[in-house]
Amino acid sequence: MVTLCDCHVHLASYDADDISGVLQRAESAEVQTIITAGTTVDTSQRCIELAGAHSSVYAGVGVHPNRLRGFLKDTDLDALERLARSPRVIVWSETGMDYLPSAPDQHWQEQSFREQIRLARRLRLPLVWHSQVPEPNTPGQHPETVRILREEHAEDVGGIMHYFQADEATARMAIAAGHFISFAKPLLRQPHQWDIARKLPLEWIVLETDASPQPYKPNRADWTEPKDVSLVAQKLADLRGITVEEVAEATTRNLLRLVTLST
Ligand SMILES: [Zn+2]
Repeated sequence: MVTLCDCHVHLASYDADDISGVLQRAESAEVQTIITAGTTVDTSQRCIELAGAHSSVYAGVGVHPNRLRGFLKDTDLDALERLARSPRVIVWSETGMDYLPSAPDQHWQEQSFREQIRLARRLRLPLVWHSQVPEPNTPGQHPETVRILREEHAEDVGGIMHYFQADEATARMAIAAGHFISFAKPLLRQPHQWDIARKLPLEWIVLETDASPQPYKPNRADWTEPKDVSLVAQKLADLRGITVEEVAEATTRNLLRLVTLST
């Protein structure tokens, strides 16, 4: 049977009584592995609890750049390290850099990103990283993010450039630095990504939804959920002229080159 993996979800953001439905719908869509990302120490803890309660769910820990209110403190790093030693934690997620004008101070972000890369390397956890620029279809400041990853030798653990929306040169730069490219639902609606998705080596592609609650969508059925990774897989299959089974098989195999799923 061909199964799909959603390598980046914010399951901890859903109401507790909503989660079993989200997971059931994912299972019905053959999405059998879900990696849920922390954005703070508290949500990282919640991710581990969810991973302990549901066999299809694995956890990441990390502090999202947009959640910073200052430099990342040693006490937070110590707490993250303690959490990251849980057997259900298989990635460092989510960290990275955000270059939108509204994002927190760049010095806070860079210190936090570098410290988290160092901790991830020490704990041998691959990094799922965020890099957001004001104009998605451009290199923007993505080379800055990759430079930090290189300077901190993130290639020792590898990782994933999550929620890809950038240009082809950025994708190739990330791959050359040892990181997978993760496509999400923007692939369905952003034509600039289609040629990139056709041309990148399939063995460096993984899939995600980055799903979190979307209360601004009045119809609950319209919220993005892990089940929608099947739509991203189908789109990638159509673009590359291969079957969705081939996409599922390749992207699952790729993720398993990066992480080990305990049984
Ligand atoms: Zn995310």
